[in-house]
Amino acid sequence: MKIEAVLLHRIRMELITPFATSYGAYTDRETILVQVIDENGISGWGECVAFATPWYTEETVLGAWHVLEQFLIPSLLKEQIQHPRQLPQLWQAVKRHAMAKAGLEMAVWDLYAKLQKKPLYQLIGGIRDEIQVGVAIGLQPTIEQYYEWIDQYIAQGYARIKVKIKPGQDVSLIAALREKYPQLPLMADANSAYTLKDIDHLRQLDRYQLMMIEQPLAADDIIDHAELQHSMSTPICLDESILQAEDVRKAVQLGSCQIINVKLGRVGGWNEALRIHELCVEKKVPLWCGGMLESGIGRAHNMALATLVGFTIPGDISASSRYWQRDIIAPEVTVNQGKVALSKLPGIGVEVDTDYVSALTLNKLEITTDS
Ligand code: MG
Repeated sequence: MKIEAVLLHRIRMELITPFATSYGAYTDRETILVQVIDENGISGWGECVAFATPWYTEETVLGAWHVLEQFLIPSLLKEQIQHPRQLPQLWQAVKRHAMAKAGLEMAVWDLYAKLQKKPLYQLIGGIRDEIQVGVAIGLQPTIEQYYEWIDQYIAQGYARIKVKIKPGQDVSLIAALREKYPQLPLMADANSAYTLKDIDHLRQLDRYQLMMIEQPLAADDIIDHAELQHSMSTPICLDESILQAEDVRKAVQLGSCQIINVKLGRVGGWNEALRIHELCVEKKVPLWCGGMLESGIGRAHNMALATLVGFTIPGDISASSRYWQRDIIAPEVTVNQGKVALSKLPGIGVEVDTDYVSALTLNKLEITTDS
């Protein structure tokens, strides 16, 4: 591979409806698209999923931009690599900054797959060409609004519904949803809104046959999650706690969870995600792919990830139209009977609408081998 230029596009996209979590609500999504270009003008695309504010992890859009511009991109252009497996070694001196690394890794993996003339999902050993998908609903002001969204998503065929919960909007919410939808594959995501003091309160959720409760406690607390999991029957899924394969090893050993959510951005990209997948298959821990309100580029990478054998639970990979009036890729991601089909074209298999990307761009930077 001879990468001659890397472009960063910071864009802002309006969400169709605000997305609320236990930390607050978003009305638009700022994100960085990463484009690597080789000597023949072939582009690979990735997406840095950091948010504008550091609510999910410590990373932010502008912080990631700085790390990409000053450290990750210069070392990639200076060293050059033969295979994207070499990237973690190249960036050893850059600690953490998982989302910045993941955005650039994704672009290099996409380019590499295109050069091999293979769909990315086949290159990484994916075993299915369509995946079952679920949808996430942010916190809503009234129960009727949940019913409205859920009815709509069931009609669209989604295979699993996830709702966000927080103190004051949890047990009674789940009870009401379970009463109205006794058979619905349902799960709840707390985004670390609780502590072990809430153990008796959270145990009340055991009555409602949830598929899982996602990240009830703090991101850096694998030990307390073990205590909680040992005292409740609802499976715990870890999201924010899992930054690398090593975290999976510890969580599984302690019994902190029964399920893992993988996000390429949170774990630093494809290389670490593949390691986590390998370990979870070995330990028989089911996986699913989480979502970060991605544009079509991040979404296409997530779809490839979810084709791996260990991803047995529908992920948060909804249709483009779940979030955007218009996506930046063609064709857009569509859901048919709860499934999304993978493109057979090389790389992530979608065309990036560069005119629309330009229209959404807040700022752009090009770094070349000569600069
Ligand atoms: Mg989550």
